[in-house]
Amino acid sequence: MSMIASNPVASVDAEFWREIPGYSAIAANEFSDPAWQERNCLIRADQVTELLAGLVHDEFVTDLADGLSHSTMSMRVTPYLIALINWESPRGDPIRRQFLPLRSEMTASHPLLRLDSLNEHADEIAGGLVHRYPDRALFLATDRCPVYCRFCTRSYSVGVDTPVVLKDRNAPIADRWRAAIDAIRATPSIVDVVVSGGDCFRLKPDQLLELGGELINIGRLRRIRFASKGLSVLPMKIINDDAWTDALIRLSDLGRSRGIEVSLHTHINHPREVTEFVVAAARRLFSNGVMVRNQSVLLRGVNDDFAAMSSLVKLLSDHHIHPYYTYVCDLVSGVEDMRTTVRRACDLEKCIRGLTAGYNTPTFVVDAPGGGGKRDAHSYEAYDREIGLAVYSAPSVRPGELFLYPDPLHSLSPAMASDWAIADRAREMVQTVLRRAKESL
Ligand SMILES: *Cc1c(COP(=O)(O)O)cnc(C)c1O
Ligand code: SF4
Repeated sequence: MSMIASNPVASVDAEFWREIPGYSAIAANEFSDPAWQERNCLIRADQVTELLAGLVHDEFVTDLADGLSHSTMSMRVTPYLIALINWESPRGDPIRRQFLPLRSEMTASHPLLRLDSLNEHADEIAGGLVHRYPDRALFLATDRCPVYCRFCTRSYSVGVDTPVVLKDRNAPIADRWRAAIDAIRATPSIVDVVVSGGDCFRLKPDQLLELGGELINIGRLRRIRFASKGLSVLPMKIINDDAWTDALIRLSDLGRSRGIEVSLHTHINHPREVTEFVVAAARRLFSNGVMVRNQSVLLRGVNDDFAAMSSLVKLLSDHHIHPYYTYVCDLVSGVEDMRTTVRRACDLEKCIRGLTAGYNTPTFVVDAPGGGGKRDAHSYEAYDREIGLAVYSAPSVRPGELFLYPDPLHSLSPAMASDWAIADRAREMVQTVLRRAKESL
C-alpha cells in the first residue's frame, strides 16, 4: 500500500458551482440557501442532461438511467454535491460513485447477500426501534434523507420505492414515535439512543425538539445521538437554517444541563467533501458545544486507499469532527463493485493508526451480517483470503453464535468467484471456514 498522502487540503474555488452550465447564474446567497438546495435536488437522470448540457456524454446519462432502474436506492442529490463532482471524468469521481449508480459498474451480488443484511427486523421491539445491544437502541425516526446513497444499508426502508425494492416505511408519524418512546422508557437497560433513519435533517425543527425533549425527559438516558449526513451533503443548512441548527444546539445544551451528552453523528467519506461550507458548518457546531462524530463507509474507488483515508482522518480531526468508525461496506444489492475486503480494512487501519491522535483514529468495523453488531475488522476468529470469508463472534451481543462476512467477488480468483455461484460448493466453503473459527475459539 502506498504511504504517500495526497495534498490534504480539500479546497474548492469560490463559487465553484458556476462551472456547471445550469448553475452559472446562481449567486452565492442562493447557492448557500438550504431551501434552494432542497428545492433543486436532482431525482432523475434526464435532469443531469439538462443541467450539464455539453459537459456530459449521452452514454453516461443512459448508463445512469439504466443503473437507477436496477438500484435499491432512488436518486436524490443536492446541487451542492453535483457541483463537487469533477465532470471532466465523472466515471472515476469519488462523489459521483456514491450517489449516481451506473449500470456498467454493477456486478453480480455475492450469494450471501440479503436485503436486510443486518437483520434489523429481528431486533425490533417497536416499529422502527431496534434493540440489539443491551444498553443502546436505534430509533429509525424517519425514512427520508437529504440525499440517497447507493450503498445504504437500510435500503429495505430508506428512500422511495425503486423498480427493485418496495420499502417498509418508517415515516415520522406521531403514534409510531410514541410507541417507540414508550418502549425505550419501559426498557431499563437502555441508556443510549441513536436517532437515525433516514436522516434527522429531514425532521422539522419542532419535530427534532419534541423528540429530543421526550428522550431527555425519560431521565434515565446518558447519551443521545442524532444521525445526519447533512453536514456532508447540505452543510448550508447548518450554516443558514437557524431554526434547525438552534434546535440541535438547544437539545445539546438541555442535555448537558441534565448530565446527558447529545451529539451529532455524521457521514463523510472523502476528503473532497470537506469543503469550506463543511468547515463553516462544523465550526458553528463546535463553537456551540455540539459534539460531532463521523462514521465513514469504506468504499472501493472512493476512499479505500491510504491517500484518501489518511487525508480524510486528518481533515476531520482538524475540524473537530471526531473520526469514530470506518465501516466495511455492508452487503447491499447493486453495490458489489463498491465493496472492499476485510484485508484492505485491516491494512488501512494499520497504516493510519499512529498518524494522529489515537482518539481521532477511527475503528475499522464490520457490521456482522445477521445481527452480530459492529466488530473490530481485525477481530475475526478465522479469515480465509482465498475463499474470501471472515468469521466473527460477538460474545456481548449474541454469545455462542458466529457471523460471516464475505469479501466481494471481484477480489477473488475467477475460479473461486464462480465456485461461490454453485450452492453446494458455497456451503462447503462456508463450513470449512466456520470449522476453522470453531477450532480457534
Ligand atoms: C450501530 C448501532 C448502534 C450504536 O452502536 P455503537 O457501536 O455504540 O456506535 C446501536 N444499535 C444498533 C442496532 C446499531 O446498528
Ligand atoms: S444518508 Fe444514511 S440513511 Fe440516508 S441513504 Fe445515505 S447511508 Fe442511507
